Amino acid sequence: MRPDILNPLFAESQTLDGVGPKLAKPLEKLGLTRVKDLAYHLPERFVTRRAIANLDEGAEGEQVIVALTATEHRAARNPGRGPYRVMAQDEVGNMCALTYFGRASYTAKKQLPVGEKRWIAGRLDRYGDMLQIVHPDHVEKDSAAHLARMNEPVYSLSEGLTQPRVAGLVAQSLERLPELPEWIEPGQFEREGWPNWHDALHLAHKDQHEKARDRLAYDELLANSLALLLVRADGRRKRGQPLKGDRSLRDRLDLPFEMTGAQKRSVSEIEGDLQQEAPMLRLLQGDVGAGKTVVALEAMLIAVEAGKQAALLAPTEILARQHFETLRKMAAPTGAEVAILTGRAKGREREGLLMSLLNGDIDILVGTHAIFQDSVTYKDLALVVIDEQHRFGVQQRLALAAKGKRAPHTLAMTATPIPRSLTLAQYGEMDVSRLDELPPGRQAIDTRVVAQERMEDIVSGVERHLATGQQAYWVCPMVRDSETADIAAAEARYASLKERFGDDVVLVHGQLRPEIKDANMERFASGGSKLLIATTVIEVGVDVPSATLMVIEQAERFGLAQLHQLRGRVGRGSEKSVCLLLRGGELSEAGRKRLALMRETQDGFRIAEEDLELRGGGELLGTRQSGEAAFRIANLEQVQKLLPAAHADARLLIDRDGGLTSQRGEAARVLLYLFERDWGVQLLRGG
Ligand code: ADP
Ligand code: MG
Repeated sequence: MRPDILNPLFAESQTLDGVGPKLAKPLEKLGLTRVKDLAYHLPERFVTRRAIANLDEGAEGEQVIVALTATEHRAARNPGRGPYRVMAQDEVGNMCALTYFGRASYTAKKQLPVGEKRWIAGRLDRYGDMLQIVHPDHVEKDSAAHLARMNEPVYSLSEGLTQPRVAGLVAQSLERLPELPEWIEPGQFEREGWPNWHDALHLAHKDQHEKARDRLAYDELLANSLALLLVRADGRRKRGQPLKGDRSLRDRLDLPFEMTGAQKRSVSEIEGDLQQEAPMLRLLQGDVGAGKTVVALEAMLIAVEAGKQAALLAPTEILARQHFETLRKMAAPTGAEVAILTGRAKGREREGLLMSLLNGDIDILVGTHAIFQDSVTYKDLALVVIDEQHRFGVQQRLALAAKGKRAPHTLAMTATPIPRSLTLAQYGEMDVSRLDELPPGRQAIDTRVVAQERMEDIVSGVERHLATGQQAYWVCPMVRDSETADIAAAEARYASLKERFGDDVVLVHGQLRPEIKDANMERFASGGSKLLIATTVIEVGVDVPSATLMVIEQAERFGLAQLHQLRGRVGRGSEKSVCLLLRGGELSEAGRKRLALMRETQDGFRIAEEDLELRGGGELLGTRQSGEAAFRIANLEQVQKLLPAAHADARLLIDRDGGLTSQRGEAARVLLYLFERDWGVQLLRGG
């Protein structure tokens, strides 16, 4: 149960003065549904303004405070379309337009009566040959208030919110902060000279207070590490089954290749883990094409040699089928029985399968999450392999571990290369094996950046490519934050390419019925269709070696990690592969660097590291690309700077006081609830 002391923080935002249903929506859009969310809604930046006597003293782009008198209101000719402008004059007669868009014009009408002087705070800009201030931050009758607030926080907003509004709500929420016990280790707290939690929040809203910001970020990192380590400690307490294979099955494998050094190393790390009584919790990290499947197979065969069962969980039906086919073929000489179970198995087929699973006829089961439903009972499940780890949260992993009487060993696999400095944050509870070496003989993918305007040439290029009998992927643009818009774009592209290529074209996106999506996918995989148009749903998995051309529209909109994943779909066969990155419009500096890097390298680990550099310290983790939203407070720079200490501190605390019962342990519980990592605490009661 959440400690009572936190209750005021978890109260709904609507309990604040002035928040009704009308404000609730825009607040929710920003994730500010509770008092604590507002208190932690830290300013994006601070503006420093300069008071000027008249407009001649201000520079373009400068944040100023200036006295202006409205002379005329000009509504848009077509209401609701163009801006609403208030023409105003300074003390020496310079004109300036105060420009408002949308509903803000109502405010302007009230605040700026013609002939009356007002103090205006905002950014001075030029529009044609006219000076203007768009959406002034403040319009006040007297100057005193502003001159006192020269350094002002700027918050991120959503439609319907203004800076003063948010600042007011933040101030209210800060008034409700309780005094919380200190959870940071006293030595460190002293050394860093950090403010306590209560003061840190106040300070962080007041100005650019680095120590306060760091402290708050550290809290979040500490909470995360603690939770992950509690999960790990819980796993360690559980008894698993030590698995020792006799090589009888593995020796019969007849692989058409020699394993790479990285594969051999990973297999032996896994083998070592499996021999322990404590259940394995290991992440296998390896780029697309690095050869994770065969490593997983070796691990599963160890379980089978030891007389137990193994299961492989895939995130989608398509991937489950593909894994099933691959594993069945590879495992054939060993005699191990491989089966597949997805949500679509029904009736007698399903019953038969469940029976074989229960009596042990099936050694290896592949499937979607259907393989962990209550109705599915294993004879003796000893190893679970999870493909594409990032799609599963920690909590789901916990549910999984509860499946066996004895906790099964877990091997998670991800094709998302994560920079070393972030691995700890996302997978701090796991041991990591890295496949950092691609199988030999892979051909480099020829990556080119082409302007999207040259669509006619691009389509002709695709035509020539298809004429050679090879296949191609065409990835449609990702329209920000709207799946519907993504799909609309894909449908439109599909229609136009279908006109050109006829029945050779299939379409796959997230809103197609699963049967249709799979049928289309299978048609492409079997070569029945030559060109696959898709939204980013093909990002994960899917292995079609004769697909050797990848076209990505508006590539600048994708993050590096995603581009890398997409490109990884080609270059899987013996033919030379090409990736065309279509550049939509003007490129930002970061966009240009991203595409250049894609041309330069195919090394996923390097791309991940540079991605981290490029995104820099300003941006938060947990965008679409990193899969799981990891942190809300800590930025990348802080993660790199503070995480090692936070992790070490968490480890020390858990070693000394695993039950979190000491005074500091109690404080740490408060911290875990505050950051909603309480699944960590909940394990304590069970263990
Ligand atoms: P991923 O890590 O993306 O899951 P896969 O396991 O699907 O990669 O392997 C990609 C391809 O590489 C498969 O066709 C697989 O048979 C092949 N492969 C795996 N290991 C090796 C190796 N050591 N040498 C050559 N080919 C390999
Ligand atoms: Mg794979």
